[in-house]
Order: sequence, then C-alpha cells, then structure tokens
Amino acid sequence: MSLQAELSKVFLFSQNKIPGQLIIQITDHCNATCPQCGMRKTAEFRRSKLDIDQIKRYIDKAVENGVEAMSFTGGEPMLFLNDLVEMINYAGAAGIKYIRTGTNGYLLRKGKSKDEFDTRIKRVVEKIVSTPVRNFWISIDSACFDTHERMRGFDGLIEGIAMAVPLFHEAGLYPSANLGINRNLGGAVTESLWSEDPDDEEHLDKFYIEFKDAFDQFYRTVIDMGFSIVNMCYPMSVPEGGTDLQSVYTATSIDKIVNFSRGERLKLFTALIDTVPKYRSQIRIFTPMSSLYTLKKQYEDDAYEAGYPCRGGIDFFFVDSQDGQTYPCGFRGNESFGEYDKLDMETIDRNAFCTKCDWECFRDPSVLFGPFIEGVRQPLQLLRKFSNRREFLDLWRKDLAYYESCDLFDGRKPISYNALRKFNLS
Ligand code: SF4
Ligand code: SF4
Repeated sequence: MSLQAELSKVFLFSQNKIPGQLIIQITDHCNATCPQCGMRKTAEFRRSKLDIDQIKRYIDKAVENGVEAMSFTGGEPMLFLNDLVEMINYAGAAGIKYIRTGTNGYLLRKGKSKDEFDTRIKRVVEKIVSTPVRNFWISIDSACFDTHERMRGFDGLIEGIAMAVPLFHEAGLYPSANLGINRNLGGAVTESLWSEDPDDEEHLDKFYIEFKDAFDQFYRTVIDMGFSIVNMCYPMSVPEGGTDLQSVYTATSIDKIVNFSRGERLKLFTALIDTVPKYRSQIRIFTPMSSLYTLKKQYEDDAYEAGYPCRGGIDFFFVDSQDGQTYPCGFRGNESFGEYDKLDMETIDRNAFCTKCDWECFRDPSVLFGPFIEGVRQPLQLLRKFSNRREFLDLWRKDLAYYESCDLFDGRKPISYNALRKFNLS
C-alpha cells in the first residue's frame, strides 16, 4: 500500500469509519430448492428484481459514500446474467474496488452432452471473466455431494463445477467455494443429529465431533475440486435472544436446518477454530480466526463484551430487492434508511453496538477493522485491551499476516503456496 493510501486509511479510522461495504440483493428469484433458504423456488411469495437504472444510481451514491466493497447477491444472480454483467461493469468503471457476486452453480452443471456443456461453460466463463468482478463465489452446502445436489435440486452439479473451476482459472479468475453452514453439512452423519435434544450434553459432544469431521471433509473436498479460495457463511438464522430482529433478507430462515441452539453454535465455532488452521496453507480461507474466537467467546459467556461490534448500519448496508430500501443488514428489517441514493451519511449514528447475529459478511470485517479504529482513536484503551486479551491479539495479528499472504483474497491472482507455507502446521 502506498504512503498516501495508508494515510487516507488512518484518516478514515480517526473519523470512526472503515471502508464501506454495500450488499445489493438484485433479485429474490431462484431456481434451486435449498431447504435452508426462504427464496427456494417452491416458496410462495411475490418475487422481485431491482431495476438496473436504480442499481446504477445506488452505485454512484456508494462511490460518493466511500464504499469500496460491493456484493451483487440474490436469489440467483446469474438468472439475469446480462444485467449482472452490466452492473458489475458499471460498478468497476465507477471505481468500486472489491466487487463480488456468485452463483448456486446451475449454469455450471454437467448437462446432457459434452458439446452442450462446453458451449455453455465457455459463454459463462467469458462473460464473468470479462467483467471487473474480483471475487466470484460458487455455493456448496454439504461435504456430501449427493446431499448437496438433493438440496439444490440439480443433477450433475458437483461434476460440472469441478470441470468449470480450471476453466475459470485458465481465464484468470479464481472462484471461491462458499459453504452456508447447515445441519446437512456432513450428509447423513450430521443429518442424523437433527432429532436430538440440542441442549443435551451428550448430543453437544457428538455434535462437535461430527461437525468437526464435516468441516474437515468439506475443506478436503473443495481442495480436491481445484478451488483455491473458500469461505464459510455462518448460520443464516437469528440466534436465541435476538427476537427483536426482523429479517428482510430471505436467505435467512427460521427452519431448524440453520437454527442452532446456543450450545450448538458454541460447538460449531469451536470446531471451526480447531479445523481452519490445518488447511490455511493449502487453500485461501477467508474466515478470520479472530472473528471465530470472538463469536465463540460470545456464546461461552454472556458477560463477554465483544470488543468490536458489527458495523452494519454504520459502514455496511444492505439493499433489499423487494422494496429497494436500505437496511443496516439483512436482519434489522425494522430500521429502513429509505432509498440508498438518498442516504445521508452525516445522519448516521457511528456508535457500533450490535452483536445480535453471526452474519459473517458484516461480523468478520468488523472484527478485523475494529482494532485499527481503536488504535487510532483510543490507543491506550487498545493497549489495555490487548494486555487483557492476549489470545485475541495473537489471532488478529496472525489473521492480518495471513490475509496479506493471500493477496487479500484477490480472485484475480493464483494462490501462492510459497507465501502460505509459513501457515503449515506440520
Ligand atoms: S440458498 Fe441460494 S441457491 Fe439456494 S434457494 Fe436460496 S438463493 Fe437459491
Ligand atoms: S450483528 Fe450486524 S448483521 Fe447482525 S443484526 Fe447486528 S448489525 Fe445486523
């Protein structure tokens, strides 16, 4: 980073700001049947799609508001591939640096004949790679292929994705495998735990073991499929005690498949903490250990004060496809800010307070940026905190070093095994 860029970041932190993030849900149309998601094609509600000119107005405003990261999410964004390409190109030309989008993979599935597959994949790869998209996620929601395809409702998905990944690589884009954590993660093994009492000690011990195995299996699987980036989406449900939250993002669900008891959440984050480091030298893993640690502590101890609450509604915002309105996130649906292009950032209360859900899109970067703001604004407080929370500091510092070795997960660059060698545990 140049000196000028570093100084501008310090200036931002001194104003209690971090680089902005805007998630635009461009549509809630979807063609998949995922049981964990309110947008599955069998769910009955009036479907919506944002108008492309409206999105362009939001992009212009986002640039003005200092947004550096923008996600175009769904539903299934690739149902509207031409519009998607147009909005990514527009955002790139407007100066948005970190553009993300993704797919449930339906355009990548194997299909009827090799010719049909080759023609379709070529077209998709060319279109996506031609845009300035930086990160392109492909969702995979179970380490067990049959379970994943049954959940999605598509055949030939995993085989098609495994064939498509090297074609993306050849064209210069390194997709990320995205796992939305759910109870079917480990196929029949974790599915068999569904009916057990979620608070029972014996269940929780088993739950930890089986989910840890499933995370292991998932990382090994996506590495074998040729992925070089992977991300974990923490369960898209409102935790117990968060009843004043009102979901607007229909990817969230009240169904048991993504609803975990407090004890189960604690085991999930512990299992991830015990798994992620093992694979950090083999694949670029977005999931920061300092964030996992914070979430684990939060579920371990009510009195634990999350040092760095979420920046949702402060620096990060969510635009909903149903009404085109802006919300602090996908969960605080009773706090509309109105249309994004009318959002006056001067009126935003910049005191971070919320830790009511585990949405990684907002929680992870809030934890990573938190110490920077504190270091610039209240350095003594940061020093005091760090002397009491040595473990957090060590994980955070290691996360920063890891992120640097991963080129900040630049999906336009290949993985550097050499740079990641120092994270090898063996
Ligand atoms: S999780 Fe994604 S692919 Fe599945 S139904 Fe929801 S929006 Fe569609
Ligand atoms: S923690 Fe963040 S994402 Fe979750 S409800 Fe609060 S502001 Fe929203």
